[in-house]
Amino acid sequence: MKAMYIQEQGDIGKFIYGDLPEPVPGPGEVLVRLRAAALNHLDLYARSGGNRVRVGPFPHILGCDMAGEVAALGPDADGRAKVGQRVLVDYVIKCGKCEFCATGRDELCRRSQRMGVDVAGGYAQYLKAPWQNVYPIPASLSFEHAAAIPLVFHTAWHCLVTKAGLRAGESVLINAAGSGVGSAGIEIARALNARVLVTAGSDAKIARAKEMGAEGGVNYTATPAFSGPIRQMAGGEGVDVVFDSVGAATWEESILSMKRGGRYITCGVTSGHLANIHLGRMFISGLTVMGSGDRSRREFADFMRLVDMGVLHGVVGKVFPLQKAGEAHQLMEDRDFFGKIVLQIP
Ligand SMILES: [Zn+2]
Repeated sequence: MKAMYIQEQGDIGKFIYGDLPEPVPGPGEVLVRLRAAALNHLDLYARSGGNRVRVGPFPHILGCDMAGEVAALGPDADGRAKVGQRVLVDYVIKCGKCEFCATGRDELCRRSQRMGVDVAGGYAQYLKAPWQNVYPIPASLSFEHAAAIPLVFHTAWHCLVTKAGLRAGESVLINAAGSGVGSAGIEIARALNARVLVTAGSDAKIARAKEMGAEGGVNYTATPAFSGPIRQMAGGEGVDVVFDSVGAATWEESILSMKRGGRYITCGVTSGHLANIHLGRMFISGLTVMGSGDRSRREFADFMRLVDMGVLHGVVGKVFPLQKAGEAHQLMEDRDFFGKIVLQIP
């Protein structure tokens, strides 16, 4: 099969496009003929070794978000997928045996493995995956949009719904609205009938976020002290929830954007991971600060119901052919996109 793979970690020049053996599905596994794979920041770290991300044996195939058609079933893999079915794939393989998996808390699995990092991922024509990781998609959803969904919607759902408990009518500030997880957060928050405010690095991204249903936004490149305008847009007091993946650069203004009882949740630190916290403000205003952590299969199934209903669609920013994965990685590093960068698999 054709694949874009690496033989060692490093810069974009390490990508090799060529032939690798087609995977053979084992017991409980499904073989998927991939049609699209979306990029995540994790791909950049898996390629470069940044943030101390190490990958499985070489040659290694990157890619954590993928969609395609079921090509074959291994023994005992007849769970929810049939041959020919259009599907998307959840990239985290749970061990099914540790004390957390055994007690219905698989988000804490001690021995989970990640496709695209620990084992082969989606920059290839074929992928094998446990049947539990493969979800049918509606006919109305393109493979590119389907590939744009799994990781960021799983994360945003877990953060906004499970952890922050965002409710209809509440207000949420979503930082980095143009990022994959930011745009997924906008879709989910709107589906929940929450009021959405955003920050982003350009006016064009703010405009896109408004098209998706955001009430307003602040360009944090032009206005780094964004908490004043955000509080005003939220009715003067501030927002109920802040959803952040930026980290250090947006931390202080995010905390200042919250009203009494506000909940802050982080799922990323793309600008740095160290921050100061004003504990007085935290206890006087009753603020809660939360970290995302890993996500459960239950949550995946929950948001997939809204995908089936056509409520959540995924946001495709730019599409490249698989052979141009290097250019796609460069675009992600340059951050000049809105939504997800997707590779089309030949
Ligand atoms: Zn486990």
